[in-house]
Amino acid sequence: MATFKEFRNNVKPNWCPGCGDFSVQASIQRAAANIGLEPHQLAVISGIGCSGRISGYINAYGLHGIHGRALPIAQGVKLANRELTVIASGGDGDGFAIGMGHTVHAIRRNLDITYIVMDNQIYGLTKGQTSPRSAEGFKTKSTPEGSIESTLSPLEIALSAGATFVAQSFSSDLKQLTSLIEAGMQHKGFSLINVFSPCVTFNKVNTYDWFKEHIVNLEQFPEYDPSNRIAAMNKIMETGGMLTGLIYQDKNRKSYEDMAVGFGQEALAKQDLSLSREQFDKL
Ligand code: SF4
Ligand code: MG
Repeated sequence: MATFKEFRNNVKPNWCPGCGDFSVQASIQRAAANIGLEPHQLAVISGIGCSGRISGYINAYGLHGIHGRALPIAQGVKLANRELTVIASGGDGDGFAIGMGHTVHAIRRNLDITYIVMDNQIYGLTKGQTSPRSAEGFKTKSTPEGSIESTLSPLEIALSAGATFVAQSFSSDLKQLTSLIEAGMQHKGFSLINVFSPCVTFNKVNTYDWFKEHIVNLEQFPEYDPSNRIAAMNKIMETGGMLTGLIYQDKNRKSYEDMAVGFGQEALAKQDLSLSREQFDKL
């Protein structure tokens, strides 16, 4: 069985020291090892943004795609080889602005992939502009007088779109983040994990301390039932979208590939495309 170190490669991340994305990378590597995956059984597909580099920093199949298009590529990979565990990843600008159309339809399609969004509430790669996740009044180079648009709530949108797995975490909480990624990868359907992942260089408002002060951990509510969609929506709205933990899971709905004709166990793609670990290591 592979250890988390086997999911490392020799590429040194060029994220700024302290960027939240380091913890997301480490959590994916630990989660993959914890659920017994081998590197040749995992694919990480990313969009564009600082966080999009993550696919190059993990020893697995990887593709650093185009802006806002991680999900169409990831869904194609999964449909071509359903034996792979597929992670799509990117930032809040990538997934909730240019890629939002794909996000909503991937959620309702419910293919068995995990989407990890590194939500720093700003555009980091392009040096600090307001994103759909920035708060009203947020001042950046693109909104010098403060943003006059309302903040987008990805958790509310995901639930409305028919999500079967919605979770949120914080890059400082490695234990929670790793266990949610494990749960997302094991969920039979589309899993959305939004991760507060601070941009230490350009976002001087939503800092580690700011998140620690504002986050509401679902552990505080032992009676909370993540199978109750209405309760999930209420809790998201009550906490201003700041709650962390497993917010909603529907274990009954079948995934897209389990329902689609032609993607049964006999699918030819399964035999044709799966490499052994030995073949993968030679790539
Ligand atoms: Fe991370 Fe921000 Fe640096 Fe990008 S600019 S690597 S998001 S800290
Ligand atoms: Mg961002």
